[in-house]
Amino acid sequence: MEKAYRGTLLEVTQGDITQSLTECIVNAANSSLLGGGGVDGAIHRAGGRRILDECIRIRNERGGCPVGEAVITTGGNLKAKYVIHTVGPVWNGGTGNEAEKLGNCYRNTLLLAAKNGITSLSFPNISTGIYGYPKDKAAVAALETVIDYVENNNAVMERIQFVCYDRENYDIYLQGLGALISQ
Ligand code: ADP
Repeated sequence: MEKAYRGTLLEVTQGDITQSLTECIVNAANSSLLGGGGVDGAIHRAGGRRILDECIRIRNERGGCPVGEAVITTGGNLKAKYVIHTVGPVWNGGTGNEAEKLGNCYRNTLLLAAKNGITSLSFPNISTGIYGYPKDKAAVAALETVIDYVENNNAVMERIQFVCYDRENYDIYLQGLGALISQ
């Protein structure tokens, strides 16, 4: 599904984000920036050593990446030129400002992308794997934040893709994007 909105093409797809053809892909990293399981492992495997080397350099300079913030590296061997690594919140029953923290991931990623002249990027469903964030709630935070960004930054991004790995997220995003942008 794709919807043109305020000069940005918003797309929902299902698949492996390491195969995305956007200029930048987003990694659901952890604060250590040293790689992990899930999408993080897949990105480091597909992108190769150069991504990890840059993550280690950033970690040495600033001690990792706090929840809700984002850092940028090369895309290494990926088709994407860049990877933006952001750290989602661990779901804690909703008692730890998780929605705000997850929104910060999407917003700070878009701001960092724009600062680097990036015009197309792909997001995974941050925090909905190992970090246990309920998929429907995570999609609301993600879509609302991205749409708010697009409304306030008309046509800065040409294309924003939500790459859903599992069918459940895919269906949630199809419905969510359709409901939020009905024109
Ligand atoms: P987190 O720790 O933020 O929950 P995970 O990597 O465990 O990160 O999961 C985040 C989301 O990424 C989940 O919805 C998971 O299904 C999805 N995912 C896992 N591998 C890939 C992949 N190769 N491409 C896109 N999404 C993926």
